[in-house]
Amino acid sequence: MQGVAQKARRKQNLDDVQDFFATEYHDLREQQKLNSTQVGFHSANAAMEQVQIVSALDNLALAATTDRDIVAKLTAITTELAATNKSLTEQIKQLLATNAALVGRASTGTPATPATNTDGDTAAKRIARLANLEAKRDPNGYCWTHGYRVVRGHTSKSCTSRANGHQEAATRQDTMSGCMTWKPAE
Ligand SMILES: [Zn+2]
Repeated sequence: MQGVAQKARRKQNLDDVQDFFATEYHDLREQQKLNSTQVGFHSANAAMEQVQIVSALDNLALAATTDRDIVAKLTAITTELAATNKSLTEQIKQLLATNAALVGRASTGTPATPATNTDGDTAAKRIARLANLEAKRDPNGYCWTHGYRVVRGHTSKSCTSRANGHQEAATRQDTMSGCMTWKPAE
């Protein structure tokens, strides 16, 4: 609780200053009264001097009060800035952590939370299997029953899972009214 102790100390200092001024002010007023009764020694110049000193002390007392308000306002602003700074530091920390996680994920190609299907298969595994299958595709292949996307070696002639009316001679050049699935855009 250092802040509280500092505030208390600061307040004590201000109170001391005020007490000091109040005492000085009082003494001066008393002196002034005394002077005005000693008519024989009272010159116009001395009176003018006294008025100036009193006025200066008034200004000082006012300045001390104003300073206290300014200090209070500055303290509030400083506290606010410290809180904002702390909040921003936290946000930066979180962003850095998120960034580090994303960078790690990008380099390994592993999703943070792999989507698991009912077979216990992960999305990453499914993608890998599809990529593997795609690499085996015959770009010019065709099967009367299965269409255009067939792996190398799968033709209308070699097909092992034929539909009714399957035509062994069907190719991309002559599909013989076979399957049009995955037909490339003309
Ligand atoms: Zn087939």
